[in-house]
Amino acid sequence: MPDPAPRTRLAPSPTGALHLGNARTFLVNWALARKRGWRILLRVEDLDTPRTREGAAEQAIDDLRYLGLDWDEGPAYQSPLLGTEGPYAAALRRLRDAGHTYPCPATRRDLEAASAPHEGDPHELRYPNLWRPPAPPLPAGVPLAERLIVPPGGVAFVDAVAGPRAFDVGGTVGDFLLWTKAGLPSYQLAVVVDDARQGVTHVVRGNDLLPSTSRQVLLYQRLGLGPPPAWFHLPLVRGEDGRRLAKRHGDTRLASYREAGVPGERVVALLARWSGMPAELAGEAMTAAAFAHAFELRDLPADDVTFTREDHAWLTDAAT
Ligand code: GLU
Repeated sequence: MPDPAPRTRLAPSPTGALHLGNARTFLVNWALARKRGWRILLRVEDLDTPRTREGAAEQAIDDLRYLGLDWDEGPAYQSPLLGTEGPYAAALRRLRDAGHTYPCPATRRDLEAASAPHEGDPHELRYPNLWRPPAPPLPAGVPLAERLIVPPGGVAFVDAVAGPRAFDVGGTVGDFLLWTKAGLPSYQLAVVVDDARQGVTHVVRGNDLLPSTSRQVLLYQRLGLGPPPAWFHLPLVRGEDGRRLAKRHGDTRLASYREAGVPGERVVALLARWSGMPAELAGEAMTAAAFAHAFELRDLPADDVTFTREDHAWLTDAAT
């Protein structure tokens, strides 16, 4: 069989404004696609409804355009596909019918009482498979989530940037959520269903999602979806305190630089330096097309980069 046409996706979550760290990942994703001839789909991941903010999808699209990025298809939104006839519900039924899932009434409090944070991510609790069959009868009239039965052992994959990896899904997160009590697909399920049905062959994203990749590989297997995409997990941008770039590091939102009159090309020039290009090449301003032309994946620094006060001053200097 011929290889499927290569295709990637830009997948912003409209839960907040894109910051400089997101911007670097999107720029590298776009540049790889344009250099290597992958089609680009813009997919807005708007299922995380409690956290999704009004107007944030439009803002994310404006932010991508501000950087000079474009796409061949989309925007495609996830939320219209909710509902029993949609692809997420169909995938859940398939897993359920094959005996890979079970309903779970556990509350957050039950989980906190029974679990310990795991080493990889102190914010994530390992679900101790409380309701994995054989389990006591389900309580009546309580909302139910649905979980995947996770086999023991590591789930391996080879990442084009991070190298060969394997995460012990069962040992770190346990039987993870497929469907929430609120009746929504989990991120893990939705992303796999969409990548598969949209023919995504190349996934480029931040390396904070490396552990999730093993969960997604497992779902590809359980759903019989064929080989998963090629993975490219990029190092992150951190603040001077070493923590992942976030609100606490001041206003690093693209929208703020845009509103302050900083040209998008100035931001791209900073991202170019963060992507391993010499300062002379990145210059004072760089178009996304020039970035794509000069970018080489092998030059991308293997370590996380630090956003400094000087970087902020250099960016805003251009606006005055
Ligand atoms: N929408 C996710 C995010 O913004 C990306 C998920 C993915 O690339 O798989 O973090």
